[in-house]
Amino acid sequence: MTQSDSSFTPESRAPSGPAAQAAGRCGFVALVGRPNVGKSTLGNALIGAKLSIVSRKAQTTRHRIHGVLTQGADQFVFVDTPGFQTRHGGAMNRMMNRVVTQALAEVDVVVHVVEAGKWSAGDAAVVPLLPRHCPVILAVNKVDALKDKNALFAYVARLTQQFPYAAVVPLSALRGVQLDVLLREIAQYLPAGEHLFEADAFTDRPVRFLVSELIREKIFRLVGDELPYGCTVVIEQWEENDAGARIAACVVIERDSHRPILLGAGGQHMKRIATEARQDIVRLLDKAVHLDIYIKVRKGWSGRDATLRELGYD
Ligand code: GDP
Ligand code: MG
Repeated sequence: MTQSDSSFTPESRAPSGPAAQAAGRCGFVALVGRPNVGKSTLGNALIGAKLSIVSRKAQTTRHRIHGVLTQGADQFVFVDTPGFQTRHGGAMNRMMNRVVTQALAEVDVVVHVVEAGKWSAGDAAVVPLLPRHCPVILAVNKVDALKDKNALFAYVARLTQQFPYAAVVPLSALRGVQLDVLLREIAQYLPAGEHLFEADAFTDRPVRFLVSELIREKIFRLVGDELPYGCTVVIEQWEENDAGARIAACVVIERDSHRPILLGAGGQHMKRIATEARQDIVRLLDKAVHLDIYIKVRKGWSGRDATLRELGYD
């Protein structure tokens, strides 16, 4: 496993030439779509490792995450963009949409993920934001959950009239059906060029970020339905040697009233979050881990640009 702290953009790539040609293909791929269509599940299934958060909550992926899949001569660098915001206003919303727009401007292929048979205002809001400068592939996810498979034809026909998709791939991210077909479709649009990552690299995010994401995932899993969106995890202390790591993380919540939700009766929620997160971190770092999690109240943090930047969101 290779970790690098730098963030890659297409501008930072080596120029492609005959040598690069021989090296194969490499490109940036964005998975976009309204919340809950299965972008994170698909990203994780494609990369074959657990990278970002899978949760039923709308805003569980706030950062751009690059997961990398290397298959022979082809390297896919995935950008998991946050859901398009349609309901919430404020600084958080603007910032997230900007992240999405920037991500789309920088990629080589976009995969528009939708849920088979379902089309909502959230899906419709995505269409005008789809780029015209690169191919957009329509991934019709959750076909396993579709009762009437014949309805798929009419559904796809309707969508292809709305946008000139380069290809349409019905699939199931959850069951791993047709993922190879999607990869083949994506691969033909990857530009020739040298690979940007080591073959075993799985993300360009620092390991600290992954750890904060792991903790956030546990929180969303356990109390996501009760806890409003304004919650983030900040790594405050990190001491590591060959034998083990000592990590202190802080969960920043918006209101005092969210604290008992997070704690649970007798602190049981927090205990479970810490235990499960620690197990994942042990697997990630492959060494002993001591994890402390604190709760801090930061009133109205999600509504202020300055505070968001301070927390590392810009
Ligand atoms: P995101 O918000 O677009 O990133 O969606 P997630 O990846 O978090 O998935 C939302 C929900 O859809 C989760 O409960 C997933 O388990 C579920 N899901 C994702 N892919 C599939 C699929 O292929 N079939 C079914 N039945 N459910 C899926
Ligand atoms: Mg997601």
